[in-house]
Amino acid sequence: MEYILTTDNICKSYGKAQVLKDVSLHIPKGAIYGLIGKNGAGKTTIMRIISGLQRPNSGSYAVFGVQNDDIIINNMRRRVGAIIENPAIYKDLSAYDNLKVQCMNLGLPSYEIIDELLKTVGLENTGKKTAGKFSLGMKQRLGIAIALCGSPDILILDEPINGLDPQGIIEIREMLLDLNKTKGTTILISSHLLDELSRVADNYGFIENGKIIKEISKEDLEKSLRKSTSIKVSDIDKTITFLDGKGLEYEIGKDNDISIFADDLIPSDLVVDLAGKGITVTNISQNEETLESYFMNLISDGKGEGNV
Ligand code: ATP
Repeated sequence: MEYILTTDNICKSYGKAQVLKDVSLHIPKGAIYGLIGKNGAGKTTIMRIISGLQRPNSGSYAVFGVQNDDIIINNMRRRVGAIIENPAIYKDLSAYDNLKVQCMNLGLPSYEIIDELLKTVGLENTGKKTAGKFSLGMKQRLGIAIALCGSPDILILDEPINGLDPQGIIEIREMLLDLNKTKGTTILISSHLLDELSRVADNYGFIENGKIIKEISKEDLEKSLRKSTSIKVSDIDKTITFLDGKGLEYEIGKDNDISIFADDLIPSDLVVDLAGKGITVTNISQNEETLESYFMNLISDGKGEGNV
């Protein structure tokens, strides 16, 4: 696996409070990597460090394989665009003029890229309207366009969907997916909105109290999300005897619903098998653990330190 961005045992303290504890991240080239954690978990701090806005107390990181103490790290940072906390937007300028300022800041030789960028983020029809009059979603999209000015290979976005309405969330999501697909931009995105993150990310890092408790690809995550089949039956005691006999893992919930945990259980076979024992299944449904419950289990099982 080729990693475009890695951190190695990064620690960071503010006074006596240690907010990052041996954070090691591995972001594959071309990934959309979702950094998931509750408020105060340390997401912004690690992003600030990777972007060169803050120094770690110990540990290191590498961008395109170049270590942070290497003299050419600044050349590598030019290939990284970031929005950390609020995007730096001039409220009295139009979207076009905001991008012009950024092009000048980066010393770009022309403004050719601006029209394409405005299209990429869906702000091509905003004309002379000043950014101060933009909706929150438009401001976020302008911020992303500013971060994209230098045609970065890596985009770092700290909670870009925070506070957006459902339509704004969909627009940002589609834009990021498109950027990743068409330009191959690697994206590191943080959020505490797990469900939303699961619609864009293909790799995840779970952070809790400054510690990475798990890194996992979407593919492996999907395999480890527990699948269950819930049934309601005419005779619960007989059903338990049957399930115990088969060595199946199950839980009895409220209203005597039985949840059976098995990936390869075929509902119709189960109904037939139970019928053979004189048990009628009156209701059956299949469920899959959500990202949210997976995350909550990770935190509670490992007290923020363990694995699944
Ligand atoms: P949020 O989603 O709320 O932004 P986060 O996961 O991004 O949370 P950080 O902003 O990285 O978390 O903060 C991690 C911890 O570090 C928090 O307890 C925060 O209060 C603390 N912290 C962050 N910046 C500073 C600072 N400049 N001085 C002191 N403490 C800080």
